[in-house]
Amino acid sequence: MMTDTTSKSMIRFANVNKWYGRDHHVLKDICLEVRTGEVVVVCGPSGSGKSTLIRTINQLEPVKDGEIWVGDVQVNSTRTNINQLRENVGFVFQHFNLYPHLTVLENITLAPIQVKKMKKAEADEQAMELLLKVGLSNKRDAYPANLSGGQQQRVAIARGLAMQPKVMLFDEPTSALDPEMIGEVLKVMKDLAETGMTMMVVTHEMGFAREVADRVLFLEQGEILEDTTPEAFFTAPKTDRARQFLKQVL
Ligand code: ADP
Ligand code: MG
Repeated sequence: MMTDTTSKSMIRFANVNKWYGRDHHVLKDICLEVRTGEVVVVCGPSGSGKSTLIRTINQLEPVKDGEIWVGDVQVNSTRTNINQLRENVGFVFQHFNLYPHLTVLENITLAPIQVKKMKKAEADEQAMELLLKVGLSNKRDAYPANLSGGQQQRVAIARGLAMQPKVMLFDEPTSALDPEMIGEVLKVMKDLAETGMTMMVVTHEMGFAREVADRVLFLEQGEILEDTTPEAFFTAPKTDRARQFLKQVL
């Protein structure tokens, strides 16, 4: 959660446009700045471009024009080392995508060992610290199939954090979960926010937005219609579209 209003920019979009094919203008002149330590919730109707927006930040989706920056690295530049960029940007998807044939511990240590060349003992130790943070110390040797959805998603978060990213992106991290498991994942995300992690979170969990977000973006047909505080968004949305949306999700 952001405390220092003078913090520097961590994610920046300048006039970003993206099309799918020739006709589908999916991101329309996006301008956006997320400061270090800020938590930004992205909401909006299905198909409005939320996933596309956050996927462009680590180049899972290329863009046509404009600039996207993470810290002082321009993401959409041919000179940027995409693998290096992705080390700095953790991504948690709706579906956990854990490696089914690896234990929880191995899932978390794989990238630090292979990509960061971390020593196994150090990677194991870090993984155990992360498992403690997400409340799963007792699951280090379990396989994903033997965990609940909520537990798997918490492992996925720990795995993302194991790369020591500067930014964590979440794309509907709780929408595939049974209702009783949503809270435990949101709690881990809230704890993470409190450590000062810069986060962009696509979610329909408006309670989380209200409680944890510094800002809420409302996207509609590829445009940011609102970019404001949760307080302002929930009590006095500026657009009719946001009002309609809130009626449906609250
Ligand atoms: P959201 O996450 O808000 O539901 P998306 O970013 O997934 O929206 O999608 C925005 C729009 O772009 C939707 O109309 C979707 O059908 C379309 N779209 C998404 N991915 C692709 C793709 N790979 N190719 C073509 N169209 C896509
Ligand atoms: Mg989506």
